[in-house]
Amino acid sequence: HAERLDGLGTTIFAEMSALAVATGSVNLGQGFPDRDGPDSLLEDAIAAIRTGANQYPPARGVPALRQAIADHQQRFYGLTYDPDTQVLVTTGATEAIAAGLLAFVEPGDEVIALEPYYDSYAAGIAFAGGRRVPVTLRAPAYRLDLDELRAAVTPRTKVLLINSPHNPTGTVLTDEELRGIRDVAVEHDLVVITDEVYEHLVYDGTHRPLATYDGMAERTVSISSAGKTFAVTGWKIGWVTGSPEVVTAVTTAKQFLTYTSGAPFQPAVANALALGNDYYETLCADLRARRDLLCDGLATLGFEVHRPAATYFVTTDIRPLGHTDGITFCRQLPEKAGVVAIPTQVFYDHQSVGQPLVRWAFCKQPGILQEALTRLKQL
Ligand code: PMP
Ligand code: GLN
Repeated sequence: HAERLDGLGTTIFAEMSALAVATGSVNLGQGFPDRDGPDSLLEDAIAAIRTGANQYPPARGVPALRQAIADHQQRFYGLTYDPDTQVLVTTGATEAIAAGLLAFVEPGDEVIALEPYYDSYAAGIAFAGGRRVPVTLRAPAYRLDLDELRAAVTPRTKVLLINSPHNPTGTVLTDEELRGIRDVAVEHDLVVITDEVYEHLVYDGTHRPLATYDGMAERTVSISSAGKTFAVTGWKIGWVTGSPEVVTAVTTAKQFLTYTSGAPFQPAVANALALGNDYYETLCADLRARRDLLCDGLATLGFEVHRPAATYFVTTDIRPLGHTDGITFCRQLPEKAGVVAIPTQVFYDHQSVGQPLVRWAFCKQPGILQEALTRLKQL
């Protein structure tokens, strides 16, 4: 195989979900909810299939969804986008990230990413021929050190690949951190690709999109997705917003990756984006309670818990339980306790930093989380 596939192997999520099925374990590994999104959303997709939304939609996405995405950005963040020129529908955020990198990274360019980073970033950067430069968020608070960010910039730096709310740490970047990122991007004339798929899953503090900062409108590729907000991770409907130039560049790459994305899902997601505030508030309150249930339970079991402000995930340090290596711990966990988790080390270039860390997903029914905690008592 080609060199660009070196080191990519099988994703940790596929490996761990297969292990969960094979061993009958409670799967707190891969981040997907165990209840599907709102009934109206599911019914709308079925109705769309029945009424003929089954052929190629327009390359940039169906007009109703592009309008709904623009309305959503206005409603939640006061950001104004023209749905015809500033919005692109993609096959999940994953495709948006890949297309964004292909659109802006030349072979040999450096891409700065916050470490630990979501695993598709490494692949996307490699496919574009770029070089990954990690800036480490350090446990237990996982704050961004702006001096380290500045020091990571070189004449070859092209893109800052930012993720907030952040997977796997659950960090929400602060206003100061976001302003610092903006300052670096403007000073060095960088493109910023910002993955905000967890924008509505924030339990402490608030999420402010990078695109709202002065100087960012023309250089930011903003990415989100329906998967997390509407608990339909298998639908793979994502989107990009940005300046017309940015969106055209990403569209050029996207059109030859997949051309278009999930026709019947698009009108359904359009309606869901317009759901009332009560939908978004309930989503958040439910997940906050689950975060607390799992964090408190893991702390009682003796883990050092790094309580996340957002997302589906909590990171723990396993050293207080006498373990040192998360990969070994996670490989043995299904057998020993009937639970699956993700070794955070796989999201690090500086593997020793991530070695004692393990990520657990709490986007599960409370009874399932309780069952996992009961099983973990055997450790
Ligand atoms: N970015 C982050 C940070 C994620 O955690 C995920 C996965 N769930 C994605 C992107 C991928 O999103 P999608 O399923 O919409 O492709
Ligand atoms: N984003 C999900 C996670 O971090 C999984 C996505 C995937 O399976 N690629 O667990």
